[in-house]
Amino acid sequence: MTFRQSGQLDTSGVSGGGRGGRGGRRGVAVGGGVGGLVVVVIALFLGVDPGQLGLTDGGAGGQGGYSDTAEQFQTHIDQCDLAQANSDTICRIVATTESLEDVWTAELPSQVGMDWVQPHTNIFTGQISTGCGAGSSDIGPFYCPADQEVYIDPAFFDDVLVGRLGGSPDGAAQMYVVAHEFGHHLQTMLGDIRRSQQDPRGPSSGAVRVELQADCYAGLWAHYATTTPAPGGQAPLLESLTEQDVDAIIQTAEAIGDDHIQKAGGARVDPSSWTHGSSEMRRQWFLIGYEQGSVAACDTFAAQL
Ligand SMILES: [Zn+2]
Repeated sequence: MTFRQSGQLDTSGVSGGGRGGRGGRRGVAVGGGVGGLVVVVIALFLGVDPGQLGLTDGGAGGQGGYSDTAEQFQTHIDQCDLAQANSDTICRIVATTESLEDVWTAELPSQVGMDWVQPHTNIFTGQISTGCGAGSSDIGPFYCPADQEVYIDPAFFDDVLVGRLGGSPDGAAQMYVVAHEFGHHLQTMLGDIRRSQQDPRGPSSGAVRVELQADCYAGLWAHYATTTPAPGGQAPLLESLTEQDVDAIIQTAEAIGDDHIQKAGGARVDPSSWTHGSSEMRRQWFLIGYEQGSVAACDTFAAQL
């Protein structure tokens, strides 16, 4: 997935944080939650002991880890432009959030009759304070429904996703992960996110349905990403999405399937403990969103799993 070679980015929706607890915009009461119910984070590895993957204190911050302070992250973010988004992970995250905003701002009113509200995104490493309590790189990228913000440690991609789980190193894989987290934001807007906690484990649990739906919403974004104009009628931020990009996303969706993660961690495959769905399920639901481009087609709650 390639961004246009020229153009500015609006970086106001992304903040640098972590290492000392300075986050993005704070001020949301801890425990506020959605209807006072959902206060835990929705993490990529929720339900898996990070120790199983060799993730210890410092989380994804292994050899390729970032040692940036919140201020350094912020400076990096502020200097991003579109061309850099094709080569730089942090700028790619920033540009992806903007592409997601363009697509959901266009699609949500027409498909659901609702206006999109862009979530704030935090790029951090180490620890960060969130509306859901202390967050850590250990659990991978996550979404906090209480403050409706996305949290990403950029070191996660190389160190864990590619290095430990065999996800694709391509930029498209990183963009899929960002789009998945934005899917959780849409679920929060629509009130579906709470189903994750109400039925937290098992191959057809609410948690798995919530995760597969976020994959489907990520696919929906990819469906429209190269055709949705940027604000002001400008050309779409993304100018290409190739078969290789889709393959990279599928490879990555499979890499973060619960069965694959259990095997990678040396555990036996135990569907009763699943929280995110198998590799096959994750591949399948990304493709449903990608091929159909329809919020209604992403109704994993009505589906036979
Ligand atoms: Zn998720």
